[in-house]
Amino acid sequence: MRVGEFLASYPGDGGRVFEWIELRRQGDVWMGQVTALGADGGVTHLRSRSGHADGFIAELGAPGAATAILDLRIIERGEGELVLSGRRVELGAGSANGAPAAFMAEYDSRVEIQTSPIHGHGVFARRDLAAGDVITVIRGEMTSVQTPHSARITDEVHCEPTGYLRYINHCCEANSVIDATDPARPLLRADRAIAAGEEINFDYIENEGEIVGGFACNCGAATHHI
Ligand SMILES: [Zn+2]
Repeated sequence: MRVGEFLASYPGDGGRVFEWIELRRQGDVWMGQVTALGADGGVTHLRSRSGHADGFIAELGAPGAATAILDLRIIERGEGELVLSGRRVELGAGSANGAPAAFMAEYDSRVEIQTSPIHGHGVFARRDLAAGDVITVIRGEMTSVQTPHSARITDEVHCEPTGYLRYINHCCEANSVIDATDPARPLLRADRAIAAGEEINFDYIENEGEIVGGFACNCGAATHHI
């Protein structure tokens, strides 16, 4: 049974680490693969050692040569959403062996991560979305600090995203907007109809006013305002 594809993040030595986990389940055994979303893009395999009521403990890496242990639990089920939370313990030399890092992974049936023609990885619609539809829940640390990856939720609150919003590319003719009606649970909504397979993008300038760090825009718009 295919469980889903999860965008995972946890604190690492050089800042937050992001990975894409594809998870399947056969009876009591969970298995799948983990693709690093950083520069190396390496793939490792995951296989559960044991299951528990609402999750599993898995080894990451080749059998007998695991590089990490994941202890994951399902903590939330929403409309098309599944969030895994738990701990990851790196094994072997060069890591803080035995020090568990808090681990979050989220699955959203509406979106997925793919390589993007605009920049690096991007967020893509898994299915058709109508104008106004919720694309995903915005998750991450809410702070008062604006950073190159943060999104403005209100004038006082910026979100350092740990979920899909992390991978939203800028577009000068964006198809999504942030809805902060409930600042404790901000949402990304479709600003127009979006077809399955289309990249979801967002206007950083409109959202932020001024952005931290500039970049050359490679979006498909006829004219750029960045
Ligand atoms: Zn542009």
